[in-house]
Amino acid sequence: MLYAQVVLPLAQPMYTFSLDEGLAVEVGDAVVVQFGSSRYYTGIVWSITTMKPDFPRLKPIIAKLYSAPLVSPEAQRLWEWMADYYMCTVGEVMRMALPSLAKPSATTLAELDERSIEPPMEGLVALAEALRTEEALMEYVAKHSRRAPRRTQLLDGIAALAIECRSDDGFVPRRLVDATAEQLADLRKRGLIVVEQRPVMRGGNSDKFLLPTLSEAQQRALQSIREAHNENRVALLHGVTGSGKTEIYIHLIAEQLARGGDVLMLVPEIVITSQLIERLERIFEGRTTTYHSRLTPLRRGQTFLRLALSNGGELVVGVRSSLFLPLRRGALVIVDEEHDPSYKQSDMQPRYNARDVAVVMSKVLAAHVVLGSATPSLESYVNALAGKYAYVELTERWGEGVLPEVVVSDTLRAVKRGERKTHFNFDLLRLVRRSLDDGEQAILFQNRRGYAPYIQCRTCGYSPRCPHCNVTLTEHRTTHRMECHYCGYTMERPSVCPNCETQDMATMGFGTEKVEEEVSRLFPEARVERLDGDTSTSERAFKRIVERFESGDADILVGTQILTKGFDFGGVTTVGILNADNLLSTPDFRASERAFQLMMQVAGRAGRRNDRGRVVIQTSQPKHPVIQYVASGDYHAMARAELAERQAFGYPPYSHLIRLLLRHEEYDTLHRASHALSDVLRRIFGARVMGPVSAALEMLRGEHRSEIMVKIESGASLSRARRLLAEALKAIGDNPAYKSVKINVDVDAS
Ligand code: ADP
Ligand code: ZN
Repeated sequence: MLYAQVVLPLAQPMYTFSLDEGLAVEVGDAVVVQFGSSRYYTGIVWSITTMKPDFPRLKPIIAKLYSAPLVSPEAQRLWEWMADYYMCTVGEVMRMALPSLAKPSATTLAELDERSIEPPMEGLVALAEALRTEEALMEYVAKHSRRAPRRTQLLDGIAALAIECRSDDGFVPRRLVDATAEQLADLRKRGLIVVEQRPVMRGGNSDKFLLPTLSEAQQRALQSIREAHNENRVALLHGVTGSGKTEIYIHLIAEQLARGGDVLMLVPEIVITSQLIERLERIFEGRTTTYHSRLTPLRRGQTFLRLALSNGGELVVGVRSSLFLPLRRGALVIVDEEHDPSYKQSDMQPRYNARDVAVVMSKVLAAHVVLGSATPSLESYVNALAGKYAYVELTERWGEGVLPEVVVSDTLRAVKRGERKTHFNFDLLRLVRRSLDDGEQAILFQNRRGYAPYIQCRTCGYSPRCPHCNVTLTEHRTTHRMECHYCGYTMERPSVCPNCETQDMATMGFGTEKVEEEVSRLFPEARVERLDGDTSTSERAFKRIVERFESGDADILVGTQILTKGFDFGGVTTVGILNADNLLSTPDFRASERAFQLMMQVAGRAGRRNDRGRVVIQTSQPKHPVIQYVASGDYHAMARAELAERQAFGYPPYSHLIRLLLRHEEYDTLHRASHALSDVLRRIFGARVMGPVSAALEMLRGEHRSEIMVKIESGASLSRARRLLAEALKAIGDNPAYKSVKINVDVDAS
């Protein structure tokens, strides 16, 4: 009898099942087991042993789900590392890594089985066995070329394709064979060819890519990256916006693909990168696969299976979860916009940062890594300063582009002098006017969607709040409703104050809807588009807006932080940041870094093809250091100042921050549990423990929330800290008084 340790998609340890020797099961296979009294689960076989564990009643593995293992030994190592580092179970990693292939559980066996997805198939063609040697084919051609020239030509073509595609067994994809269905049917009838259905393969077509010619500066950067890779070091490519980082990636990608290696390029958000994907498709035609959460589960599952069978030479461009695709010959991992907060999964376990996992994965796979950004995260920057990563800098834009000129526009002063209309200082209006007059475009950035972030009664000061989250409701004019941006709760906009019944509810602050309305009034001839979470609910809607702006069918684009993510619009000469104050005031140790990154990225959309780029930052704190760093475009100065502060207060990157978020419906229970936990933690970690405090969002979906932070200084043993922390959490969890309190652990919280 054999015994298998099986990972279940749960926050549970692994369990052992018996393995009938008749069932051909290997490590990494997906299997069905029964767990609990009446539920079936998909599990992954983690290890197999002949040693009988001493449990009285072992349940058997019931069935195997896919013909080949879903999890490679490398993936096993990565999952284990993640579970350990992010303090979750391997089962929780599984649940995230195989979303579409393994339905977690069901009440009947059949339900799990029918989920099995087939990889996409295609027809392949090969010469008949007897013609597969060169001599045999030549002999046949010599004999028949006179009477049946078309037929011999076709056979010769298939043989040539097989060489071109480096086919091991002579089979080539039907779609590449230049023949009609009748012609192929005829060849088949004559026994000259054989046809087979097989899983779709890619990557064999051609290694001759048409690569962009690099500038001298780009060439040097490429060379430095190669040198770093030869020493097995991670390369941090710090290139200003518009410096052509993508062109450098393209060269690196081509080298690996030509060698049969797989390349993974991570991007923050896939819809935003449709421009990028088109560019890559044009060069690596037929090799690129995109992967993101908007694909149907079937497509995602098929992509997974197709890659698992691939011979290499694949380029996957995807969001953070692409890390879990089976790239068997992973040779290069690129993390574009590596500073982007969306690489961190913060809403469920594992709360991982894809950039950090990519670096770990590259070690497991012995692959190269490039982290690229115009505004690197301070974590990566510190690694570069310490010599851990190779630091490669590109300080100039490519071609004619120069970095834009930045104007800091003092809002309070503008109000005093009467130089402000609604939410626009004259400084900004003048430049938008100029762009429009010159037939150029403008981008206006406001980091809030909706019409107004709240409304307030002018008589009693009352503001409607979400009953589940206790935050102010955002006014939306397009839908005429008030909406909670955390849980989606909506209500009708009250015209009468629900508190004092006066009819005087005023709109407070402003969001993108209001900006759109006002800018349309101020520039009635301009065509205005808005890009935010409300207008780009579908990929198609999003693309339509981007296309209209790109092709010049719109003059002004209003939007939220979506605009910061790598767009390459040639016609934009003016960029306005409407309210920098709300970027500077978030209560977070990363606020300055994030504000700098956001503003630099938005600013980077201006003047990408010329020297007429201008950026106006509207703020009531023109002297604020972050504003000054953006104005001078001085990343290094920002980083120096910010790092000094982080070091003084022991924040990342000089420590690891572990956040414990506690949730409960009753405030009292939460309060008591939070204090009990922090007491236990203080006994272990002393002054490294901060809190408990109310979470930034005190209430969400009807649950009260508090948080405790533990700072583990760099150099101390993080693994020991995690172990001690896990013990403390268990002690609280085992206490009947606190059992119902939910606790989320977030390692490297941001
Ligand atoms: P980044 O990602 O660094 O902001 P991009 O890679 O988007 O910059 O490049 C900015 C613009 O310059 C793009 O339109 C790109 O096509 C162009 N560009 C950059 N380098 C080259 C090059 N070597 N050859 C042709 N075009 C280039
Ligand atoms: Zn809510």
